[in-house]
Amino acid sequence: MKKAIFPGSFDPITLGHIDIIKRGIHLFDEIVVAIGINADKKYLFSLEKRKKFIQDAFSSEDKITVETYTGLTVDYCKSIKANFILRGLRNPADFEFEKAIAQANGKLSNIETVFLLTSPETSFISSSIVRDILKNGGDASILVPKSVSESLNKK
Ligand code: ADP
Repeated sequence: MKKAIFPGSFDPITLGHIDIIKRGIHLFDEIVVAIGINADKKYLFSLEKRKKFIQDAFSSEDKITVETYTGLTVDYCKSIKANFILRGLRNPADFEFEKAIAQANGKLSNIETVFLLTSPETSFISSSIVRDILKNGGDASILVPKSVSESLNKK
């Protein structure tokens, strides 16, 4: 069975992440969207909210599950018997950053990192842009799935 994790902070999940996960479904039997918990990082949305946004976005997709983890990503992969890490690439900065991490992870384990190139429609989207828009009172609903935009509208 081909099992992958898609790790990230997902603060919040965006249509860019959704695009990569949906395309990844065709490559893997199961994808665990893995929210990494970093105690030193400040988040806009609570862990519970970030998890629920993802669960609600994929409620009808049984190949996608959502989990949280701490520690090294490769250790988490081993603990749940996932052999692949799925990542998205938007630009040369992503490439350089991801290359170093993927090569380091390859030295630490047999886990293979698989990259999907961002789709043109979503290549400009990042969680940090969404957070900037929200912090300044703007409307970010076209950049995020319904599960996130509906929760924003309730505020
Ligand atoms: P991190 O907290 O590690 O930066 P993110 O939540 O920002 O994690 O992103 C997780 C993964 O999703 C990364 O591989 C990132 O490159 C990818 N990603 C984020 N936005 C997009 C996008 N618009 N198109 C393609 N991949 C994306």
